Amino acid sequence: MLEQIIDHNRLLKLDKLIKESRNIAITCHMAPDGDAVGGANALCLLLRNMGKVANVITPDQAPYDLEFIPGYNQMTAYSRHPMKAKRLINEADLIVCLDYNGLNRVAQMSTLLRDATCKKVMIDHHLHPEDFCDLTISYPVMTSTCELLYRILHHLNYTELIDKTIAECIYTGMMTDTGNFSYNSNHAELYLIVAELVRKGVDKDRIYKLAINTSSENRMRLTGYALAEKMIVYPEHKASLIVLTGDDLTRFNYQSGDTEMLANKPLAIPEVVWSTFFRQEKGYVKVSMRSEGNFAVNILCTRYFNGGGHANAAGGEFRGTMDDAIKTYRQLLDDLSKADNNPNKINLQSDEN
Ligand code: 5GP
Ligand code: MN
Repeated sequence: MLEQIIDHNRLLKLDKLIKESRNIAITCHMAPDGDAVGGANALCLLLRNMGKVANVITPDQAPYDLEFIPGYNQMTAYSRHPMKAKRLINEADLIVCLDYNGLNRVAQMSTLLRDATCKKVMIDHHLHPEDFCDLTISYPVMTSTCELLYRILHHLNYTELIDKTIAECIYTGMMTDTGNFSYNSNHAELYLIVAELVRKGVDKDRIYKLAINTSSENRMRLTGYALAEKMIVYPEHKASLIVLTGDDLTRFNYQSGDTEMLANKPLAIPEVVWSTFFRQEKGYVKVSMRSEGNFAVNILCTRYFNGGGHANAAGGEFRGTMDDAIKTYRQLLDDLSKADNNPNKINLQSDEN
């Protein structure tokens, strides 16, 4: 039995919306991760088991290293197939916004979603959900959207419909959003859910191997290079910075997903409490921050890098050159020194957002 954390009325409303709908479109955020792709496909496959028409639409192509997730090859990426994505959204009588809290997280797909006239439901675990859905089921206390999804299915008595493939999808999201249960993972009920998923047939060792311990040769060399040559440690700030330029990425034939988890690695150094990673993208610098304990990097990503996220895992997009991103980072270090290294105490006067 799982504790009833989710508001009962919202669960009933969701159940009603699902029962009344024939065609359901499931969307997730751009650059989708294991939780987004796992959660979206879990829900999609489950709705199909209920006899619904269901499709997953992503803003951009999901990274190739998530290809092992059941349903991956049936997803439609708006960036590659805009006409098909539009048709699937327009034909839907319910849109699920899964694992994201605002329309800015779906990039070029945001207008399409905003203009869609059918009902929309958010199922998410990020802080500060925007109010753009008819029903919002948002629980930042959940370690992953997949955990939230499992709990929803449990309370609505749909767990019978969870087969092995759906269980694999859910397990993948729970595992990847907790770094294979290495952070945010002390809640005992997590393991009740894992036990149920293993009972459904999940081979958790296989998923660990595919999701976390598989790498192309290029990716492994890029990781080694980034750590050996590009990581700067600032012990006085308990900080580290890794910068990968366009040339670095080209040299190792970078593929989307190749730097997933790179931002976490410096946290293994006892002197590093928060880690920052900048990656050159077309027209902007992708920022990732990770931290331990109560050092809240989402505050820093929001204030300095046009982003947000969770206290210990956040990101953003810096619209400027890499040199300017590095200057902004140095400014951030200065500001933190003046604020006793407490993100909450940074002088708001330097806040431009
Ligand atoms: P990552 O560093 O893996 O891209 O993102 C880590 C977390 O930071 C994500 O789960 C998401 O919550 C948040 N995040 C990443 N990029 C952005 C962004 O551009 N805007 C906002 N608001 N959050 C982001
Ligand atoms: Mn997530």
